[in-house]
Amino acid sequence: MRILIIEDEVSLSKMLSDGLKDSDYQNDVVQNLADARYFLGIRNYDLILLDWMLPDGNGIDLINEIKQISRKTAVIVLSARDDKESEIEALRAGADDYIKKPFDFEILVVRIEAKLRFGDSNIIEIENLIINPEEEKIIYNNEEIELKGKPFEVLTHLAIHKDQIVSKEQLLDAIWEEPELVTPNVIEVAINQIRQKMDKPLNITTIETVRRRGYRFCFPKKA
Ligand code: CA
Repeated sequence: MRILIIEDEVSLSKMLSDGLKDSDYQNDVVQNLADARYFLGIRNYDLILLDWMLPDGNGIDLINEIKQISRKTAVIVLSARDDKESEIEALRAGADDYIKKPFDFEILVVRIEAKLRFGDSNIIEIENLIINPEEEKIIYNNEEIELKGKPFEVLTHLAIHKDQIVSKEQLLDAIWEEPELVTPNVIEVAINQIRQKMDKPLNITTIETVRRRGYRFCFPKKA
């Protein structure tokens, strides 16, 4: 999962960034709309934390652009405005949630999880295959499979987005801290490890390659 933090209050954005990293969310921080537009143009985001008042304009004016790039990207507005009218204005502008400053960080994380539908029910269970992202554990027919690190994260991301084709670029953005600094080749390496360490010994197929488009989680594969 990747989050863009658009917040000009440096101490707050640092606290958010560090806290979200501890909760395993990749994130980028920008302090103004211009930089936000730049990042929105090069990376894919699952969620945006958007401050209202920024040095070069109003955060809520960006919501429309965010939703045009990706309708599925959730937007949570963070604002010092605590009046009812502002909250209504933000939600009407397309925000998915509105959090008044100052806020409790734990509450924010829970709201993020709710938006990403990635809360306590994040254990993926498909027939005899169980993927537990929190414990980085895969169980198949009651036996644990040794698959950790990036291959595990790639498998989990694809399983969460099953029925969808996920591009290499989307996988890089979601899982690698600085996606531009690695070659897309790392995805192939991770997929290969999933196939070698898991699919092959278990004689199953979990991920299929969709030519030129990316990968799709396909377990259980119909014969
Ligand atoms: Ca501000």
